[in-house]
Amino acid sequence: TQELHIVGGGMAGSEAAWQAANMGVQVVLHEMRPKVKTFAHQTGNLGEMVCSNSFRSDDSEQNAVGLLHWEMRAADGLIIDTAHRHRLPAGGALAVDREPFAETVTARLKAHANIRISYEEITDLPADGQWIIATGPLTSQGLGAAIQARTGSDALAFFDAIAPIVYYDSIDMSKAWMQSRYDKGETEEEQRAYLNCPMDKETYEAFIDALLAADKTEFHEGETAGYFDGCLPIEVMAERGRETLRHGPMKPVGLTNPHQPDVKAHAVVQLRRDNALGTLFNIVGFQTKMKYGAQKEVLRMIPGLENAQFARLGGIHRNTFLNSPTLLDAQMRLKSQPNIRFAGQITGVEGYVESAAMGLLAGRLAAAEILGRDLPPLPQDSAHGALVHHITGGAEAKTFQPMNVNFGLFRPLDGVRGGRRGRKDRYRGYTDRAKEVWTDWLAAQRVDAAAAE
Ligand code: FAD
Repeated sequence: TQELHIVGGGMAGSEAAWQAANMGVQVVLHEMRPKVKTFAHQTGNLGEMVCSNSFRSDDSEQNAVGLLHWEMRAADGLIIDTAHRHRLPAGGALAVDREPFAETVTARLKAHANIRISYEEITDLPADGQWIIATGPLTSQGLGAAIQARTGSDALAFFDAIAPIVYYDSIDMSKAWMQSRYDKGETEEEQRAYLNCPMDKETYEAFIDALLAADKTEFHEGETAGYFDGCLPIEVMAERGRETLRHGPMKPVGLTNPHQPDVKAHAVVQLRRDNALGTLFNIVGFQTKMKYGAQKEVLRMIPGLENAQFARLGGIHRNTFLNSPTLLDAQMRLKSQPNIRFAGQITGVEGYVESAAMGLLAGRLAAAEILGRDLPPLPQDSAHGALVHHITGGAEAKTFQPMNVNFGLFRPLDGVRGGRRGRKDRYRGYTDRAKEVWTDWLAAQRVDAAAAE
């Protein structure tokens, strides 16, 4: 049978190789390190953790990342199993001893009879063969240019400028209201795409003070260059003048506050619906380099967001990623060239765990295609399914930015389990449902594999 080529031996590529090889496919894993380096990686190991040593929460009942852990373990995931082998005490989080972790990942892949590792940089998208591109946020320049030539320059970003994302149900609608500026949009659906939070002069001035005083992160060396066009951090706008934001993303025009129709707001913070389900809203134009703790404090000064819960906080980083909602099909293949799949952070997910999870799926999907097996449809109510559905279809393509897994991506629960239950119950409902459908999906593949033999 055909070989599977995987480019990039990070979180996603390592997991993809493991999954495909375990299904009986011959895998060639191409990794450019240690020959070609990135600014963040320190070693030539596969599965190197570039920054923190945490896989975040391991709680599979109340946390969406913990649920991904659970699903990956059920699917014999290499990354998650190795992480557990090198676990460090860290409360509810899965923290790992990073060097032995990456050494073990490397050793297990090297020892696998169906995997060959080729240390080289790939700089093209090959026309033939089955390929998975899992080259991550720091994809080499040559390959980045080749992808851009294929997808068009608007479809591949080299920086993310992430505006914070808020859970709709944590917004105080007795202060905020739904309206698009100048009531643009034909359908009710379009008019419900925006939500507004009004500020009086005093609140605005206090907000600017807090922005200027907040703790910010510095860029990594080698990370900057040219990011400033079109996506200035809000604090940089505020530094340029106290009124700049009021004439930019916070301009109070074209809007009427139904709670106080006679009062003209001094400034308005606008949020835009971030997914088809309407459970997530991003704060328009609020990309920021504020540290996470400071960000929460400052953003909760916005009227209506006093109790906001964040699906993700804002940031600006060097990050190569595709506009997956327009480019990829539901099987993570490039629509214009289906022999190429993408996996990991380059598909627009964010984080070690999410990247490994997308590698797990891509590896299984590619292997099934090579073996001529039909996998049962991926269950959207699993954490893997919810995440891949978001990036390949559920997210707004125009404003697409990298996403962490979170419960806002899950379809609402119906019947007894849904409705007005408390948050704890709801999360338990999501995770129970996910485990059930994921277990069924894995079991169906085992039956299928047995039938194919
Ligand atoms: P990587 O793990 O980066 O793997 C990609 C691999 O592809 C690398 O080994 C690279 O050498 C190789 N490669 C690239 N181009 C080529 C080529 N042309 N040919 C062959 N090989 C190639 N996430 C977290 O959860 N926690 C964090 O603390 C965190 N910190 C981060 C800090 C930085 C500076 C960056 C850039 C990202 C960080 N991330 C973090 C985000 C992200 O989750 C990780 O980068 C994660 O490793 C992504 O997994 P991946 O497999 O997609 O990419």
